[in-house]
Order: sequence, then C-alpha cells, then structure tokens
Amino acid sequence: MVLEDLGSSLRGTLKKIANAVYVDSKLIKEVVRDIQRALLQADVNVKLVLTLSKQIEKRALEEKPPAGMSNREHVIHIVYDELVKILGDARELPIKKQVIMMVGLYGQGKTTTCGKLAIYFKKKGLCPVVIAGDVHRPAAYEQLKQIADQVKIPFYGDKNEKNAVKIVKKGMETFKRNSDVIIVDTSGRHKLEDDLIDEMKDIFKTIKPDEKLLVMDAAVGQQAGPQAKAFHDAVGITGIVLTKLDGTAKGGGALSAAAEVGAPIVFIGTGEHSTDFEKFDPAGFISRLLGMGDIKSLLERAEESLKGKDAEKTAKKIMSGKFTLHDMYDQMDMLAGMGPLGKVAEMLPGGFLGKGKIKEKDMVETENKLQKFKVIMDSMTDEEMNDPNIVRASRIKRIAHGAGVENKNVKELLKYYNVMKRTMKGLSGNRKMKKNLMNQLKFMN
Ligand code: GDP
Repeated sequence: MVLEDLGSSLRGTLKKIANAVYVDSKLIKEVVRDIQRALLQADVNVKLVLTLSKQIEKRALEEKPPAGMSNREHVIHIVYDELVKILGDARELPIKKQVIMMVGLYGQGKTTTCGKLAIYFKKKGLCPVVIAGDVHRPAAYEQLKQIADQVKIPFYGDKNEKNAVKIVKKGMETFKRNSDVIIVDTSGRHKLEDDLIDEMKDIFKTIKPDEKLLVMDAAVGQQAGPQAKAFHDAVGITGIVLTKLDGTAKGGGALSAAAEVGAPIVFIGTGEHSTDFEKFDPAGFISRLLGMGDIKSLLERAEESLKGKDAEKTAKKIMSGKFTLHDMYDQMDMLAGMGPLGKVAEMLPGGFLGKGKIKEKDMVETENKLQKFKVIMDSMTDEEMNDPNIVRASRIKRIAHGAGVENKNVKELLKYYNVMKRTMKGLSGNRKMKKNLMNQLKFMN
C-alpha cells in the first residue's frame, strides 16, 4: 500500500506523544523533527514539509488546549488537523449533466479512469458516454472501447483519424442530445511537450469542459509538481484522480503536487479493475494513514466540544418532519463511528434492528445492515435521496444492481426509511422524547 511507511512512522510519532509524561517544548520539537523526516522519506516536497512542520510547531507551542482536552490530545489533534489541511477541502463531482476532460501523461491510468468514472456516473442513474481522444497511443482506442463495451457505455472513436480535435468534435455532436456525462479521454505522452499542450488547449476549446481532471500516478515522485502545474496552466485543473494507490510507491510527490496546484483530489484508483475506485475524503484518508482507530478515543473528546452545534442542527431538521434519505444517511454516519450502539438502537424503530435491549451479536448484525444501507444509498441519485417515494420497481432494480445487492435489500431500506420517518413525525408531538433524542444526537456527534 502506498504511504505505508509514512503511515507507520507517523503512527509511531503520535504514540510517542500519547505516552509522554510531559508535553513540553522539547517533546514538541522532537515530534516535529520526526514528522519532517517521515514526510521527506515519503517524497513529500521539501517546501511543503517545512511549511507544514512549522505550522504544527507553532500551534503546538502557542495554542492552549480547549477545555476538557489534555495537552497530548491537543498536539495529536493539531498534527492530524494540519495534515488534513494540506490535502484541501473534500470535493465531490456533482451528479449532473456535464462534460469531463481527462488529462495526464502516458501510463498514469487515464484511460482506465475514464471507464471507472463512467461506471460511477452510471451507478448514480446518469447516462455517461466516452470519447476516445487519445490518438497517440495506438492501444488507447481499443482499450477504451473494450471497457465501454464491457460495462455497456456508449463509445465514440475513430481508429483511422489522427486529428484528435476532429474526433472529439464528431463525438460531441454524436452524443449531444442523448447523454448526460460526456467523458473525453485525451492523449498522454512520456513528457510534457508543446504540441501536447497545444492539442489539449484545442480540445479544451472544442468541448468546453465543465471538469478538467488530471490523472496522476501515485508513484510519480518529485516531478509531479511541475507536471501538474503545466497541466493546470494549460486548462485549469478542477480535480485530481490519484491512481495506483494500491502500489508500493512513496506517494508523497503526488500528494505535494495536488497541494501545490490547489486542486482537490476527487477520486483515488486502488487497482486495475473497474470497480477499484473510491471517492476521496481528506479527513478519512489521513485518519487511516495515522491509524486513528487507535488514537480515535483521544480525538473524540476534542471533536465533541467542537461539534455540539452541528448535532443540534441535525436534530432540529429531523424534528421539522422534512426527513430525507440524505438525513438518514448522515444519521447512519453518526451511528457508524459510535461506541454505545445499544443505547441509540433502543431509540430506533423496532423490528429491523431488534427490539428492546440489544445483544452484542445483534449489534454486529445491525452495523452490517447499516453499512449495507449506506452502500445502497450510494447508488441512488440526488432526486431519489430527496424523494424516496419515486423509487419504484425499475429504479429498485437499477439501484440493487449498482450496489451489488438484491432487490429485496433495497425494498428493506425503503421500508426502514418509512418507519423511521413516521417515528420522527410521531416524536415531534412528544416533548419528552424530543428532548431525549436531541440529547442523544448531541452525544452521538
Ligand atoms: P493511460 O496511458 O494514462 O491511459 O494509462 P492506462 O489507463 O492505460 O493505465 C496504465 C496501466 O496502469 C494499465 O496497466 C492499468 O491497468 C494500470 N492502472 C490504472 N489505474 C490503476 C490503479 O489504480 N491501480 C493499479 N494497480 N493499476 C492501475
């Protein structure tokens, strides 16, 4: 796994903090040096390492921990927070009609990613199509066609045409009226050369893309920075797809490049197969890297004091009777990271999650069920999430297919939603229960 070494060094450093008798400036300086060394070894750009470590040191020395948080927890939290910050805010591609231009050097995984993206949008209920605009790599046409045929996605390409602009122009005309998401593959080269840049700009003018995604191999190392910048200068990158995160590369170069360009990483590729593709979430990524499972209990207390306000907002929204699947999803997210599920489960409608007091075995089952529900909801469109009543037989089939579950699981989710909604409505008349739920939600967050 990419960044495994970095992860284990950083985890070691955090454990050092957690076990320290005193958190003083000596420890902080030592920790900062450890972090610098770990990041440099992972190929993270020197300038970025210096800025980041300075910031960690400054905050750790100057900031006072919030009430209820120990010095150790506070320093760990700062390290985590600053690492998340360099990856930028999380960004999801909108689920809507759009044109997406894929750019990147040769062999980075661009063509593979076109297929992965198309499947992603298909699962969301849109109609994606792909256009083969890579005219320089002879196999690119066949490769993209094969992927498109496999997953039944319309494809346009012309093996005999060497002018990429002509191909994409024709492709756009072909798909203008009968598609939602047009994904355009473009040429990669071994090196960034002027003619590649010119071709890219011409394609850009022809297709007027909404999104310009840079595909970058996590193994690319220090040259990632100048590369990303050149692509950014030419077309204005709106998102980065980091591929081959399943490999053994150091990965820090690619991450630095993303930070330098300031474009968010939107997806990661974790294998050659078309389903090895995940939305990217900076906080989740860093948590995994730092093994936050271990250190989570320390950080939870920190988060609690910061997030109290959000919980109240969620509770108020639920109480207002406007309860959508989005709300349910958020709620499940809150449930997922929580220890005492039994307490919360008592408040959920009976039948699905078991009645009354919940046993350990049932709790595991419950968590599996919630997880499955989330996978199903990931395959639903925004419209369906906002108004689940429109989900009838044919949509159920599509959603089940997308999520890799059976129709009956989707029906079960819908039934659960309806029970939940009714319960929420019932609650809004009952002041005592309302207060109780508010407290639970606050506690949950
Ligand atoms: P392009 O030249 O940028 O279009 O690159 P390709 O899509 O042809 O990918 C180059 C090679 O990388 C192929 O063998 C792909 O199967 C492989 N590849 C692409 N993405 C990933 C990934 O996320 N993980 C792994 N392990 N291999 C990948």
